[in-house]
Amino acid sequence: MSTTATRGETAAPPRDGAALLRSTGLRVTRPRLAVLSALTQHPHADAAEVLSAVRDEQPGVSHQTVYDCLHVLTEAGLVRSIQPAGSTARYEIRRHDNHHHLVCRTCGRVEDVPCRTGTPPCLHPAQDHGFVVDEAEVYYWGLCPACAAEDPAANTPDAQPGGGAAPASTPPSRKKDESLDETA
Ligand SMILES: [Zn+2]
Ligand SMILES: [Zn+2]
Ligand SMILES: [Zn+2]
Repeated sequence: MSTTATRGETAAPPRDGAALLRSTGLRVTRPRLAVLSALTQHPHADAAEVLSAVRDEQPGVSHQTVYDCLHVLTEAGLVRSIQPAGSTARYEIRRHDNHHHLVCRTCGRVEDVPCRTGTPPCLHPAQDHGFVVDEAEVYYWGLCPACAAEDPAANTPDAQPGGGAAPASTPPSRKKDESLDETA
């Protein structure tokens, strides 16, 4: 089984699924084709989303079959699995471009971003303790535009101190001093 044969493949249109499978020596099966097709249409889907997409085409397919497909395709290097902290594993067609991911802290939206250096490892540790480092895993965390628009903390540069919460029991006599200053 060769894992180098797929190097240079771009995101596979569904009709290339059979060729992709054969290139790694995998048997071409309907569920495997359906999983590749689902990931082409829904990059970064988790297993439940893949299962739902596959069942749109093949209603009778079992969840175990789909999980097995994801496992086999990932092992074969056709599918890449990512798991941002706090998230379930997500899957995408492996493109061999060493791209990284933006992740929204609020809704979990994931977007691809190109690698800044192009080749792994993207970063070198200040102290490598003799390790041969071949990869740095990079996630960019933040808020997507939709969540940032709904998040008042991210929206207003400064909270209004005590805005509208002043008690109405201020003695009238103090008002005199203030109006004196303002009209002077
Ligand atoms: Zn979001
Ligand atoms: Zn990606
Ligand atoms: Zn990188």
